Amino acid sequence: MLTYEREREELADKLSEKGITDIYVLKAVREVERHKFVIKAMKQHAYSDVALPIGYGQTISQPYTVAFMTQSLRLKSKARVLEIGTGSGYQAAILEKMGIDVFSIERNMDIYLKTRKLLDEIGLRIHTKCGDGTIGWDEFAPYDGILVTAGSPTVPESLKRQLQVGGRLVIPVGNKNSQILKIITKLNDNEFEVCDVPEFSFVPLIGREGWNQK
Ligand code: SAM
Repeated sequence: MLTYEREREELADKLSEKGITDIYVLKAVREVERHKFVIKAMKQHAYSDVALPIGYGQTISQPYTVAFMTQSLRLKSKARVLEIGTGSGYQAAILEKMGIDVFSIERNMDIYLKTRKLLDEIGLRIHTKCGDGTIGWDEFAPYDGILVTAGSPTVPESLKRQLQVGGRLVIPVGNKNSQILKIITKLNDNEFEVCDVPEFSFVPLIGREGWNQK
């Protein structure tokens, strides 16, 4: 049987073969213990490159998606990043391991409390709050990067506003089943450069500037 450490090595190698080149992202994948972020019944699949259920109808994203989105931000150490959709906390943990100052918002109170407890137990310094992430977290803006880990019908204006000039916003946009990943660079307060990457599938982003609850 492979040890978790060996499984992480193999996962990082697989992500590298799939086109992840950022050495800091790959290093974080080797370090973050994904098996601690998945539910008990899924532990044996923790290092498979697949999304897994975390309860409450939500998922922990596929490692390739986490790595690709993180790499797309092109971050420098000590950058400030806002994540919308804390979920299991795995994406936030990858960012924290890279030396990023992480702010993460989760709308589901049960998920928020469970993940907050886990992050404290592991000793990860991540700022979290429970609320509607579609309106961002104004208090700590601007952010060098913003990651949205749920699929949105449009790009929330609040998130564009809270992005630093030169910063990147990575967000899946489309219908509730399938989305295009938009990598949006803020050129100045009014101009944005957009790069589209097909084809992703995230759970819906629900909120004031996302999908309605029903
Ligand atoms: N980043 C997560 C991880 O590493 O496990 C995966 C997130 S999961 C695919 C999407 C999460 O977004 C869910 O936990 C869901 O409750 C949350 N979510 C949906 N709409 C939201 C909103 N408006 N604000 C904050 N979180 C939201």
